[in-house]
Amino acid sequence: MITAKARAIDGPNNTFRAAEITRRDLDLHDVLIEIKYAGICHSDIHTAHGEWGAVNYPLVPGHEIAGIVTDVGAEVTKYKVGDRVGVGCMVDSCGDCENCHKGEEQFCLNGHVPTYAGVDKYGEPTQGGYSSHIVVTENFVVRIPDNIELDKAAPLLCAGITTFSPLNRWGAGPGRKVAVIGLGGLGHMAVQIAHAMGAEVTVLSQTLNKKEDGLELGADHYYATSDSGTFKKLAGHFDLIINTVSAKIDINAYFGLLTVDGTLVNVGAPAEPLSVNVFSLIGGRRSFAGSLIGGIRETQEMLDFCAQHNIASKIEVISADQIDEAYERVLASDVKYRFVIDISTM
Ligand code: NAP
Ligand code: ZN
Repeated sequence: MITAKARAIDGPNNTFRAAEITRRDLDLHDVLIEIKYAGICHSDIHTAHGEWGAVNYPLVPGHEIAGIVTDVGAEVTKYKVGDRVGVGCMVDSCGDCENCHKGEEQFCLNGHVPTYAGVDKYGEPTQGGYSSHIVVTENFVVRIPDNIELDKAAPLLCAGITTFSPLNRWGAGPGRKVAVIGLGGLGHMAVQIAHAMGAEVTVLSQTLNKKEDGLELGADHYYATSDSGTFKKLAGHFDLIINTVSAKIDINAYFGLLTVDGTLVNVGAPAEPLSVNVFSLIGGRRSFAGSLIGGIRETQEMLDFCAQHNIASKIEVISADQIDEAYERVLASDVKYRFVIDISTM
């Protein structure tokens, strides 16, 4: 067993505390990673606060992991000691089903193993990246390109792939008008990636407070959704809208911004259901879709794409003692644009 330092939470209303957790001894295909940085995703907050359903505490969240390989199992072929690597939202899947064969392990028919709040194939609860070390089977480890610093790379492992995947799938590119709702962790990655893909990008944020940043990240236009004029002006305008908002919003108002045959893809995952007025879809033969992270192969593609286009996350590095404060600031939409924990402060 390997002992790791961690930050854990004991219940939905608790704060984080220092903890020691154990990681399994390396199996033949396992990689031991010394974690250097872990991003704070809004999903960590939904989960830690029990908003998505019951979880087993103590819980160590964190699925935006960047670090260095410090040991490998006897049959590992993909990685060696010293490699710069990342781990995202999954640490395993059956590897055998139709979806795993397609490289879409997130849709594993036998259920992928989430990086935290799951149970691994050994029957042990999984614990995430707010910790000094993690052991992961090599097929669920990705390589971080040399020109992306590890702290700025960490958020790509969830925020990056979760936005890259639908932008890729629904064809964001030249001649396409793409809107991003919410300029937070996911949103600021969506803007950079859609811009790099060649699309015309619009940010739909609650206010104009972050307009300058949005334009710098690559947006062509920026509107406040608190201004009802925005919805009149942009009616029927977008081929693709990516909704990254973590709370319940009036989604029907946004359907009205789609072209005929346009698609709104929801990646935001509020606990409360959204209510859909079907007439706002029927009226323009519009689609409402969802998307869950991305497969491992696509995650590597995303990292290589980001490296090629000089894209990374804009981050605020915090110490392990600032996690509670960071959660409060994320909940207040006061994040520019991802908090990343410096694991050396554990
Ligand atoms: P985040 O950093 O908190 O960003 C969310 C943004 O939404 C905020 O910055 C804010 O942007 C906007 N917003 C927040 N509350 C709002 C409200 N009440 N009304 C309107 N807009 C509001 O969160 P994140 O880490 O990007 O995650 C966003 C959501 O995606 C979460 O629900 C998370 O669980 C989910 N998620 C899903 C997947 C997936 O695979 N589908 C993966 C990762 C995360 P403005 O200030 O610009 O308005
Ligand atoms: Zn996440």
